[in-house]
Amino acid sequence: MSLLQRLHPRAWPLPGGCWVCLGWNGARICADCRSAFARPLPRCSGCALPLPPGTHSQLCGHCLQEPLGLTHCLAAVDYQAPWDGLLQALKYRGELGAAVALAELLPEPPKHLPRPQALLPVPQHEARLRARGHNPAEQLARALGRRLNLPVQRDWLLRLRDTPTQTQLNRPQRQANLRGAFALATGAPVRGGHWAIVDDVLTTGATVAALAQELQRHGAASVQAWVVARTPDPHA
Ligand SMILES: [Zn+2]
Ligand SMILES: [Zn+2]
Repeated sequence: MSLLQRLHPRAWPLPGGCWVCLGWNGARICADCRSAFARPLPRCSGCALPLPPGTHSQLCGHCLQEPLGLTHCLAAVDYQAPWDGLLQALKYRGELGAAVALAELLPEPPKHLPRPQALLPVPQHEARLRARGHNPAEQLARALGRRLNLPVQRDWLLRLRDTPTQTQLNRPQRQANLRGAFALATGAPVRGGHWAIVDDVLTTGATVAALAQELQRHGAASVQAWVVARTPDPHA
């Protein structure tokens, strides 16, 4: 973290400046900050947890036992400094520039998988959307859509009830907590198609798992999850 950010934790860059070090060199995330904080890691293809060195499997231990049901899970970085600060700027202050910067971090999706036909942001409940004024997942999806030339369908996934953030719950408890929380909009043409769910942070994966299940129940051929940040394994 730069001295300037330490002094002004809410500072954001001048146009053309780096969102991490606030240096001005024409990149939203400069090469130095990328190599210091966003080095690509081998990650589990089922939940994007970093894989321990020397692992030959594509899946982590959790996904081998209890997969989330995703065709692939893509994450750019671990949920830690400096990215937590940018994600909070997006989430709580609606900084659209942070969404664009964070969207640039996402690695290219694997070439052997079908290209998603649209990006589907994780929906927010209407009450939360009204209170916050924007859906950070949708802002990320829009930034990613522009970068990768993919359409965004913001109305296909619906959140029927607000589920309080319960970071204390484990994966099965969260799944139970989310039962019936989501639905697919009537007439959303997902059957036979390839889709990517977009969110800011993936913690247990229960939310994307519930949404993927809903899409698959309606005939989706593949469902990926693309997230900016993955919380580290609490049991590691
Ligand atoms: Zn920088
Ligand atoms: Zn995994």
